[in-house]
Amino acid sequence: MTHDCLFCKIIQKKIPARIVHEDDDLLAFEDINPQAPVHLLVIPKKHIATTLEIGPEDHGLIGRLFEAASALARARGIAERGFRLVMNTNPESGQTVYHIHLHLLGGRPMHWPPG
Ligand code: 5GP
Ligand code: ZN
Repeated sequence: MTHDCLFCKIIQKKIPARIVHEDDDLLAFEDINPQAPVHLLVIPKKHIATTLEIGPEDHGLIGRLFEAASALARARGIAERGFRLVMNTNPESGQTVYHIHLHLLGGRPMHWPPG
């Protein structure tokens, strides 16, 4: 299940990452290629490949994912200015790692529509 997943390896501490939050269900760490002054990835420890695989049993987990991202935005001082939460699904969205991750982007103005 978790065989060749990069983010499962980060969860298992087999690959290093700059971890900023960890609890029983979630991990958050700095994106290796930041696209904004704040660019964190918030992930469930449970391996879920894409948003298409989220099921009823994951509702609490997904809620906690967003709550943790918002808490991190507050902690980084970007809550009031604003920030963007992004979860890409499948190739045309730009998804490259197939373990769901919520991008927390902020610290600069965000544009719309996204590229
Ligand atoms: P996606 O393109 O799938 O939405 O996002 C994957 C993100 O993971 C990218 O922003 C990329 O920079 C980040 N990433 C890829 N490999 C690593 C890694 O080994 N460590 C960390 N911290 N981030 C990574
Ligand atoms: Zn995984």
